Amino acid sequence: MFENHWHNFETTRASSPKNGAHGGSSGMKVDRPVQVANIKSSSFKSRLTPSHSSGSALRRSSPASFASKDGDGVPGRVRVAVRLRPRNAEELAADADFADCVELQPELKRLKLRKNNWDSDTYEFDEVLTEFASQKRVYEVVAKPVVESVLDGYNGTVMAYGQTGTGKTFTLGRLGEQDTADRGIMVRSMEDILAEISPETDSVSVSYLQLYMEALQDLLNPANDNIPIVEDPKIGDVSLPRATLVEIRDQQSFVELLRIGETHRIAANTKLNTESSRSHAILMVHVKRSFMGGDNIYSNENGDISHLAKPLKPLVRKSKLVVVDLAGSERIHKSGSEGHMLEEAKSINLSLSALGKCINALAENSAHVPIRDSKLTRLLRDSFGGTARTSLIVTIGPSPRHRGETTSTILFGQRAMKVENMLKIKEEFDYKSLSRRLEVQLDKLIAENERQQKAFEDEVERINIEAENRVSEVERSFADALEKERLKCQMDYMESVKQLEEKLVLNQQQRDFDVFTDSNCIGQGPGLSAAEELVELKKLLEKEIKLRKVAEEEVKICKRQQGQDRQSEAGGSVEVLKLHKILENEAHQKKKLEEEIIILRSQLLQLTFEADQMKRYLDGGGSGNAYTGLDSSMSPFRHPQLKDAVNGQKASIATLFEQVGLQKILALLESDDANVRIHAVKVVANLAAEEANQKKIVEAGGLTSLLVLLRSFEDETVRRVAAGAIANLAMNEANQELIMAEGGISLLSMTAADAEDPQTLRMVAGAIANLCGNDKLRMKLKSEGGIKALLGIVRCGHPDVLSQVARGIANFAKCESRASTQGTNSSRSLLIEDGALPWIVQNANDEAAPIRRHIELALCHLAQHEVNAKDMISGGALWELVRISRDCSREDIRSLARRTLISSPTFRSELRRLRIEY
Ligand code: ADP
Ligand code: MG
Repeated sequence: MFENHWHNFETTRASSPKNGAHGGSSGMKVDRPVQVANIKSSSFKSRLTPSHSSGSALRRSSPASFASKDGDGVPGRVRVAVRLRPRNAEELAADADFADCVELQPELKRLKLRKNNWDSDTYEFDEVLTEFASQKRVYEVVAKPVVESVLDGYNGTVMAYGQTGTGKTFTLGRLGEQDTADRGIMVRSMEDILAEISPETDSVSVSYLQLYMEALQDLLNPANDNIPIVEDPKIGDVSLPRATLVEIRDQQSFVELLRIGETHRIAANTKLNTESSRSHAILMVHVKRSFMGGDNIYSNENGDISHLAKPLKPLVRKSKLVVVDLAGSERIHKSGSEGHMLEEAKSINLSLSALGKCINALAENSAHVPIRDSKLTRLLRDSFGGTARTSLIVTIGPSPRHRGETTSTILFGQRAMKVENMLKIKEEFDYKSLSRRLEVQLDKLIAENERQQKAFEDEVERINIEAENRVSEVERSFADALEKERLKCQMDYMESVKQLEEKLVLNQQQRDFDVFTDSNCIGQGPGLSAAEELVELKKLLEKEIKLRKVAEEEVKICKRQQGQDRQSEAGGSVEVLKLHKILENEAHQKKKLEEEIIILRSQLLQLTFEADQMKRYLDGGGSGNAYTGLDSSMSPFRHPQLKDAVNGQKASIATLFEQVGLQKILALLESDDANVRIHAVKVVANLAAEEANQKKIVEAGGLTSLLVLLRSFEDETVRRVAAGAIANLAMNEANQELIMAEGGISLLSMTAADAEDPQTLRMVAGAIANLCGNDKLRMKLKSEGGIKALLGIVRCGHPDVLSQVARGIANFAKCESRASTQGTNSSRSLLIEDGALPWIVQNANDEAAPIRRHIELALCHLAQHEVNAKDMISGGALWELVRISRDCSREDIRSLARRTLISSPTFRSELRRLRIEY
C-alpha cells in the first residue's frame, strides 16, 4: 500500500521553498528555506474535498458522490499539527532566565526554532497550537475532520509523536473526569461518533492494545498477549482477530473501558518493569454503518444531489479510526535507561525508527518502503501511504535543554507532511439485510392479501344474504298486502251484487203482484151497462196507466240503482288498479335489487381477476410487471406470460359467470346508469378475452350490444373497452362476418377517425387488422372504408398502434395474394388503390421489429401479383424488396423476397435496367 499510491501524487506533493516572511525585516537570518509542506493548504479543513468540508454532506446523501468504490480515491495528504506544552513547575524554576527554544506564530502557522540568540529556523505546519490552545480546539483542528471522514466510511488515524512528557497522553488520552474541559481526543471522538450514528442501522466497537517490545497485548484482556497481526494482501487490510472487541453503546461505558485499559496498562508495565511512556498505546474504533444508496448519483452544478433512475440498494460501510499514543521519541540514553532497558530500547526504537524510515521513504518517493520491518509499521500501513485520512500531532516542550529532541520531533513532523494518502471508502452491498427486508415485506404482503381476500369474500357473502333477505321480505309483504286487498274487494263486490239481486227480486215480486190484481178486476161485473163498462174501462185504463208510470218510475229507479251499483263496482276496480301499480313498483324495485346483485357479482368477478393476478404476482417472486387488471387482460394482444395467470382463474370466473348469467351482464350494457354500463362493458371485455366465451357472447347478442355502445359513444373508457371487446371477438373467424354484417366496420372507422386515445386506437386497429385477415371480407372491407380507416390511424404514431396497422395491412395483402394465386383476383391491389403504398414504403425499415416484420411480409405479398409491380416500382417499393432480400434477419422472409423478385418479369427487367445483379 505504501508503494502503490505513492506515484500518483507527484504533483500535489511538490514542496516549494519559500523564504521566511520576516527574514529580512525582522533582522533575523533565515538560513534555511522555510519548510512548506504544501503551499496550497493552510488548514486541516481547507484541503478537504468539498463534500467533506461540511462533514455531514455525505451522511446526508450518498457516498458515491465523491469516491467511486473501485476507482481512484481522493488524494489526502497527512496533516501535521505541532503543539507546545506550557512550562511545567520544574521548567518555570530552572529555565526562568532562558527564553523558550521555540517561538510560535500561530496565525502564520509557523514555528521558529531558535538555534541561538541570533539565529533561528522557521517551519510551517498545517496547524500551530500554542501552550494556550484548549483541548477542545486541539480536538477540532486535529481529530474532528478525521472522525467525520470515519463516519463517512473512510479509515482514519490520529497519532501523537513527541518526547516523553510533552503531552501526547494529555492530548489523546485524558478522560477529563474532574474537569470536562480536559477531555482528550479519544473521549471527544467517541462523543462525536455516538452522536452521529443511529443505533438501528449502525454499530461501534473498540479494541484497545499496547505494543511493547514488538509484542501486542490486549489492554481489555491482559492475559491475551502476543496478538498476531493478520494482513489481507488482496485489500491491504490489517486486522487483529484475536483482540477483544467491545461494542460501545454509550459514552459512559467507553470511558469505563478506557479506564480499565489504562489500569491494565499500568499493571502490565509494572510487571515488565517499565513505564507507559515506553510502549505504544493503540485504540481501534470500528464503525459499521448501513444505509440505502445507489450507483448513479451525481452532483449537479449547484451541488445538489440528483438521483438517477436506478433504485437504491442497501449498502454497508465499515471504517476504522485508529488513535495511536506513541512511546516517547527521545533517545534511550537521555532518559537514563540501562540494563534490560537496552533490549527494550532496541524494540521501542525498532518500531519507532521503522516508522521514521517508512515516512522518510514515502516523503522521498523511494521505491522501497520498509513497512514489514516492525509491527507498528505493519499496523499503520493504511495510515501512511494508504487509504486512511491521517492526522499527526507532534508535541514539544519549551525547554531549551531539550532542543535536540524538539528539533528531531519537528523534522519528523515536517517529513510526515509530505506523505500523501489516497482516501477510499470501503463499501459493500448489504445482501443480508436486503434479503431479510424483502422476506419480511413479502410475508407481510402475502398475509395482507389473504386477509383482504377473506374480508372481501365475507363482505360479498353478507351483501348477498342481505339482498336476498330484503327481496324475500318485500315479496312477502307485497303478497300479503295484495291478498288482503283482493279479499276486501271481493267482499265489497259480493256485498253490492247481493244487495242488487235482492232489490231486483223485490221489484219482480211487486210487479207480479200488480199484474195479478189487474186481471182479477177485468173478470168482475159482467152485469154492468156498456156506459158503466166504458167508465169502468176508462178508470181501469187510467189506473193501468198510473200503474205503468209507477212501474216505469220503479224501473228507472232500479236502473239508476243498478248504475250506482255498477259505479261502486267500478270503484272496486280502481282499488285493484292501485294495487296493480304498487305491485309494479315493487316488481321494479325487485328488478333494481337484482340488478344490484348482478353488479356486485360482476364486481366480485373483476376483483377476483385482480386479486388472483396480485397473488400470482407475489407467488412469482415479484418478477416481471405487476398485472394491473382489466386494461391489460382485455387486450387481444395479451402478453403470453399472463396467459397462465388468466387460465388459472377460469374456474372462479366460470362459477361467477354462471351465477350472474351472461344475459344479465349483457342487459347491463344498456343500463340507465352510466357507471353500471362502464362496469358491464369491462366485464364483457374480460369475458370476450376467453375464446370459450366468445361464441356465447355473440349468440347472446353481446356483439350487437357492444356495437351499439361504440356508436352511442359517451365516454372514452367505454369506447376503449368496447373496442377492445370487439377486437377480442374479431379474433374468431365466425364472428368476423357478423361484425361486418352489423355495420361494424363503419363504426370502427368512425371511432378510428375521431378517437385520440392511443389505447382506443390500438384496439380499433387490432379489430380491423383481425377483419383484414378474412378472405371473404376483402371487397367489403375496402368498400366500407376499412383500409382508409387503418391508414388514418397512423396519425397516432404510437408504436403499438402502428404495429396493429402494419399487421392489418400484412393480413390484407396476404388475402389478396392468396386470391391472386387462386385466380379469383386479377385486379390491382386494393391497398395500392387506397393509397397505402407510400406509408408501407416509408415504414418498411421501421426500427420497431414487429412493425418492420409485418410490412416486410406485406411487401412480399403485394409483389407476388404482377399487376402491382409497376406501382411498386414507381413507389420505391422495389428498393425495399431488394433490401429485404438481402438484409432481413429472418431467413424465410429473406428468401420469400428473393423468390418474388426473381419470379416477376417486370421486377427482373427493372433490376436489369438498373444494373442490379440478381
Ligand atoms: P507524554 O504522554 O507525552 O509523556 P503527558 O501527556 O504524560 O506526556 O504529559 C506530561 C505532563 O505534562 C502531565 O503532567 C500533563 O498533565 C502535563 N501536560 C502536558 N500537556 C499539557 C498541556 N497542554 N497543558 C497542561 N499540562 C500539560
Ligand atoms: Mg504518555
